[in-house]
Amino acid sequence: MIDFIKDLILHFFIILSLGFMYNFLWMQKRSVYKKQIFKVAILATLLVTMALPVRFHGGMEFDFKLIPVFIAFFYLSRSDGLLIVAVLLLLQSLMGIDRLLITAMNYGIIIILFFAIEKAYKSSTINRRIALGLFIYGLITSTRLAALINSGNADDYLYLIVFSLVSFIALSLFIYIIEMTNLQIKLMHELHKAEKFSAISQLAASVAHEIRNPMTTIRGFMQVLQGERNLSADQNLFITISLQELDRTQTIINNFLALAKPNTGSMDQIDLSAILKETTAFMRSYSHFANTELVEAIDKNLCIKGDAHEIRQVFINILKNGIEAMPSGGSIFIIAKVEKDNVRIQFRDEGVGMTKEQLDRLGHPYYSTKEKGTGLGMMISYDIIQRMRGKINVESEEGKGTTFTILLPCG
Ligand code: ADP
Ligand code: MG
Repeated sequence: MIDFIKDLILHFFIILSLGFMYNFLWMQKRSVYKKQIFKVAILATLLVTMALPVRFHGGMEFDFKLIPVFIAFFYLSRSDGLLIVAVLLLLQSLMGIDRLLITAMNYGIIIILFFAIEKAYKSSTINRRIALGLFIYGLITSTRLAALINSGNADDYLYLIVFSLVSFIALSLFIYIIEMTNLQIKLMHELHKAEKFSAISQLAASVAHEIRNPMTTIRGFMQVLQGERNLSADQNLFITISLQELDRTQTIINNFLALAKPNTGSMDQIDLSAILKETTAFMRSYSHFANTELVEAIDKNLCIKGDAHEIRQVFINILKNGIEAMPSGGSIFIIAKVEKDNVRIQFRDEGVGMTKEQLDRLGHPYYSTKEKGTGLGMMISYDIIQRMRGKINVESEEGKGTTFTILLPCG
């Protein structure tokens, strides 16, 4: 009994050390031969487990050789799995030719089983992988149990079950270690990608910023040209279109810059009432131009924590959308007040509204139903509100209008 437990513990740790070996090798950035080294480690494990099998008191012997085969097959490659089986059979024949045939048959079946579940295994989550391991062990244990009962050694069944259980736990832990290692590597990869992306977007932002200056110059000269008296109607039209297109480019660059602007994390206390009033006043001329009205009911001294520039951007985006949603005129009602621990800001328009599908797509990059839209405004706004730990809710009915409700924690 003591021997049995000793053997079992030894094997358990041999298998686990293989898991740690994997972790060690794969976390190393520069290990070129990690696969080869790991293969040798698997072979060594196979050798040890076969040379020192677990003995049951009735004289039966079992070992963990299935686990190295499993590991090689699923975590290296099929051919490595087959290689391990070949070595296994070779070792078996050296140890005694009598059980070779049975072992060959057993592993033939196991390999077929592995091929059958390979696809399912590779596309599974870690829990399902462990469940598949349990399934394989259950299958093998039951056939071994049958063999045991057949050979009249039925007393050994308890040993067999303990042995199978420990093997299964060893395998599960091994899978767990490997999967966690792979996850960690993947996360590191993602991190690198994100860093690279952030560097590029910063560069792009500086380029965009540089483009704005010459554009201002071009716009200025175009306006001077437009003032010329002896221009033909066509020339006038071309200049007007050019100016419009320049403005459009400017909007795109501004939106992009707001998006690419790194989160400065500036969380100053800001007077939301003042900003909202200011922004509404700023948008009023645009709204009159579009034959719409801005009606405000803004409480005094509403304070939040955040970035004044960014929150202004959100209000402008929403107001502009609201105005654009009312081609035949209407009003936008702007209400701001405190609600529990939040400041609640509501923009309600009487515009065209949105269908459920449109509402679902709102905030996705480049989603726009407008001919000259950029489809970035709402995305940027959502991002800003989220970073300020606020919430934004949109209700809309086709033909009736849309209501944007923003909740921001009081500051
Ligand atoms: P853009 O205004 O450039 O099209 P936005 O991200 O600001 O991009 O808006 C995306 C789309 O969401 C708009 O094209 C429009 O279809 C819809 N939308 C946004 N706000 C409203 C609103 N108040 N009423 C109706 N539709 C809206
Ligand atoms: Mg917009």
